[in-house]
Amino acid sequence: MRKIAFIIILFILLVLFVPYLFVAVSQRYIGSGLSENTPPSGESEPVDSISVYVADEDKVADMDFAEYLMGVVAAEMPASFNAEALKAQAVAARSYTLTRMLGYERDGTPPEHKGAMTCTDPTHCKAWISKGKAIEKWGQEWGDTYWSKISACVLATKGSIMTYNGEPVNAVFHSTSSGRTENSKDVWGGDVPYLVSVESPGDALSPKYEANKQISVEEFKQKIRGAKPEASWKEGDALIGNIVKSDAGGIISIETGGVTFKTTEFRNLFGLASAHVDFDVAGDTVTMNTKGNGHGVGMSQYGANYLAGQGMGYADILKAYYTGVEVGPWQK
Ligand SMILES: [Zn+2]
Repeated sequence: MRKIAFIIILFILLVLFVPYLFVAVSQRYIGSGLSENTPPSGESEPVDSISVYVADEDKVADMDFAEYLMGVVAAEMPASFNAEALKAQAVAARSYTLTRMLGYERDGTPPEHKGAMTCTDPTHCKAWISKGKAIEKWGQEWGDTYWSKISACVLATKGSIMTYNGEPVNAVFHSTSSGRTENSKDVWGGDVPYLVSVESPGDALSPKYEANKQISVEEFKQKIRGAKPEASWKEGDALIGNIVKSDAGGIISIETGGVTFKTTEFRNLFGLASAHVDFDVAGDTVTMNTKGNGHGVGMSQYGANYLAGQGMGYADILKAYYTGVEVGPWQK
């Protein structure tokens, strides 16, 4: 009888504690790094709210600043990334948005914004998605698991931005570098002391590290002539002429058919993943092999996730990509 009672008690204990253990372990796994190195921040955001032009709804909405940042992190970085990478992304987004806001307050907002301080068009400002739309897109399970992870990462860095000589940093970022990030001046011109080329060791592991585009030589020439009608190739001319490359290996300028293109102009013309291009012209086919994804300036998101996986905290990740910056609270 006693033995039966003992077995029943043991069974009840197992029923009670197994789910608890499971939840505790899985939360630790999902949150990997969330509870470590993240003392709750007592800081407040540099601004309480921000007006946002929501492009796909064609309306301006006033949003809580932290809530806006959560939507940017959700739209700009996979939520499965390491928490320290998500925090680095939150600080980069906060710094970027604040720099833009200060500029718009000084010079006025652009017409695309319909009076707002930022917009949700990723080609103009930063991508943004609401919690509701994110759950619609990625499912309730994503919402339950990842929205709270993203919120925690934004709140753990509350009020923190990057500054250089006391001024907020224009924290541009990209998906994946070629293994080295690019100098801002090689991509857009204009020297920015904190946007200089650095090594980004984990990028070769990114699923977006390599891509290629193959088109016929005739189609290549047509595209070039479409952009610059004066382009022409004489019999025996090499298809690709002189290429000026950055230290990181990206195209600064490229000559073909007697005309010259700058990096972004050429990349956009062919819809290339990056401007780190190697050409292979064989017969009537040209293959453009690219390394990296995006403009290559500032933080590499996949690189940040790699560094986080190596145990680096968000502030050190940011300092690795933005040379000479400080990370901390800043008030207008
Ligand atoms: Zn915009």
